Amino acid sequence: MGKIIAVANQKGGVGKTTSAINLAASLAALEYKTLLVDADPQANATSGIGYDPKDISTSIYECMVDGLNAADIIISSSINFLDLIPSHIDLVGAEVEMINLPNREEKMKEALAPIKDKYDFIIIDCSPSLGLITVNSLTAANSVIIPVQCEYFALEGLGKLLNTIKIIQSRLNQELEIEGILLTMYDVRLRLSNQVVEEVKLHFQQMVFDTIIPRNVKLSESPSFGLPAIMHDADSKGAISYLNLAREIVEKNAVVQAR
Ligand code: ADP
Ligand code: MG
Repeated sequence: MGKIIAVANQKGGVGKTTSAINLAASLAALEYKTLLVDADPQANATSGIGYDPKDISTSIYECMVDGLNAADIIISSSINFLDLIPSHIDLVGAEVEMINLPNREEKMKEALAPIKDKYDFIIIDCSPSLGLITVNSLTAANSVIIPVQCEYFALEGLGKLLNTIKIIQSRLNQELEIEGILLTMYDVRLRLSNQVVEEVKLHFQQMVFDTIIPRNVKLSESPSFGLPAIMHDADSKGAISYLNLAREIVEKNAVVQAR
């Protein structure tokens, strides 16, 4: 059974895309069949694993709005065990076009249902909004990872996100769980970073992943090579930390699959 994990936070720049790409690549490196779904019209996850969004003609958008078969738009990546459903800018229009569709919150769930069991993990990179596409992602997902940047105003907007998750749990997807809160861009030298870690752990306790993602230049430069950090520099702190996160998630889910 494939597990669908959405990476969501309506705040921009907190590390959603970096986490989605590098978690997906790390799960693939551990030989779990993984699908990365780019659900952001900015298509950063698509370009981050080596595809130019300008060359993309089909995306999750066509599955949600036009009922295209997801299996037909999956593309393979240069990484073993990792596939991609890409995005392109037209996804912006999807929200408007979906407004009048019946079950408009369940379009992504319907699109992913036929392919779900072909994968061990499906990772959805959400856009920085709580709009209809993100609601679709959270309705399709089994769980959500919430990246929180170790910076000023780290907790800003988190209440609203948690409230949205509660509403989705009560109305659309009772099974939605919080996979964990992921602290990102941690800088051991900064008192502020350490304060944020303490504050978030105090607030959310066991909801916080043990793995903390450090601020690491290999993570920020690897998308310009169209590669996840593990392919760009496998020994970098960034690559290793996402591999640790993947192991933590696998352990937590005790995924017993033929390897
Ligand atoms: P989001 O998808 O939430 O908007 P991104 O993953 O695109 O956030 O990250 C925002 C910016 O921060 C990007 O330029 C990215 O390369 C950089 N970044 C993200 N995580 C790290 C990290 N751990 N270390 C260094 N730079 C990072
Ligand atoms: Mg992003």
